[in-house]
Amino acid sequence: MRDVSEALRAFRAEAAILSDLAAAADLLSWDQDTYMPPGAAAGRGEQEATLHALRHGRLTDPAYTGLLDELEASGLDPAGSDHAMVRVARRTASRAGRMPRRLVEELARRTASARVAWAKARSEDRFDLFAPELAAVLELKREEADAVGGGGQRYDALLDEYEPGATAASLAAVFEPLKEEQVALLAAIAGSGVQLSDEMLRRAYPVDAQRRVCEATAASFGYDFRRGRLDVTAHPFAIGIGADDVRITTRYDERFLNPALFGTMHEAGHAMYEQGFAPEFHRTPLAHGASLGIHESQSRLWENLIGRSLPYWEGAFPALRAAFPEALGGEDVESLYAAVNRVESSLIRVEADEVSYNLHILVRFELELALLNGDLAVKDLPAAWNDLYRSYLGITPPSDALGCLQDIHWAVGLVGYFPTYALGNLVSAQLFAAARGALPELDADVRSGDFATLLGWLRSNVHRHGSRYLPAELIRRATGSELDSRHYVDYLKGKYGALYGLA
Ligand code: ZN
Repeated sequence: MRDVSEALRAFRAEAAILSDLAAAADLLSWDQDTYMPPGAAAGRGEQEATLHALRHGRLTDPAYTGLLDELEASGLDPAGSDHAMVRVARRTASRAGRMPRRLVEELARRTASARVAWAKARSEDRFDLFAPELAAVLELKREEADAVGGGGQRYDALLDEYEPGATAASLAAVFEPLKEEQVALLAAIAGSGVQLSDEMLRRAYPVDAQRRVCEATAASFGYDFRRGRLDVTAHPFAIGIGADDVRITTRYDERFLNPALFGTMHEAGHAMYEQGFAPEFHRTPLAHGASLGIHESQSRLWENLIGRSLPYWEGAFPALRAAFPEALGGEDVESLYAAVNRVESSLIRVEADEVSYNLHILVRFELELALLNGDLAVKDLPAAWNDLYRSYLGITPPSDALGCLQDIHWAVGLVGYFPTYALGNLVSAQLFAAARGALPELDADVRSGDFATLLGWLRSNVHRHGSRYLPAELIRRATGSELDSRHYVDYLKGKYGALYGLA
């Protein structure tokens, strides 16, 4: 047997190749969403499939999995990062190895056709066009869960891909008390008689000025443009293409400031996480977020805990007003703060405010769990959806297009993904409370536009670790306690209680 350092060297060399193949595929995919000429679509699909096949072949190659066996048996220090690296690599390799090729291909084919059916069903408001496709996708996801999960709960096997260590039961334990609090708060706001207007955000906002503001905002937070860039896409995202290239995108609406400004804050939050991975983790399996929930905590922290806070706008409003003199010349910081925090039960998840957002997620979590387990038939989904919207948000979707057909996730096979959005909100508030405890000058820093102390705290407590720790352990290390929805509920009650004059 080789000695451990030699096996580690061989493993790191192979991991670096796997990382480069993934980065190349990500760059192709970024290009596809930004600058690729439309005629290149078919060829691009082939290039991406080739890279995917090369990577899959190496991940499941016995030479590589044999190295993992050897390292697992070698007694690496369980507290060390090499041990974590092998754990994460094994997780990826065993998921890849357990998925039968036939199932991978069927899923790719079926989700491609389901995506087309979903778009048509949504535009014509005809759930019946999508129902058979959704049923077929769900059947394949059950097969996937059985293949990768080794006989445990199916939902848990799917969830684990996005949120390692979480289970349906652990989520329900966190979400149940949260649901009661958020339903009650939303009802109290609706009954307060206070109406906040966001009309000022829906005036003329020239795109050029929006772009300058978005770039300046991301840079002020600490997003490093020497290792990133901001482009335009229909559906904004952040994407890490290796260690020193983490890109973000946004979209501009000339008549509404929010999508670009808050979208950029959000994506910059994701990107700063990846820009902060420890340099020694570059080109290793640890150069990833700990989970989608942890990733979302970083975007939500900058978008909401900072970007929708009063201290932030007390500092940033004069520059915003100067950038948009026509729209905002006669406004003050208090009215802007109220406008960006307007609460209203609405039908569409992606437009939801902080108070109602998680309720949109809880609806989807409960329904996808029931669909996957066979407790809810696909044909009964629209009625079940509308029932939950009535009871959690107090509104009834007037159509399926504005109801259960609004999101693409299930059509493309993302089952177990939605809960990570709500986890992100909860973790963002818990981390922010811990940062506040450690940084007594935080509000003053934010007011003066100095985000270096907050970013420094996030760098050392969250970012640099990459995926070295499972999400639960990362939260414990950073905040001193288990994941607890109390922080988010306290945050909402404090902020919105004041805005809406609640007792
Ligand atoms: Zn996000």
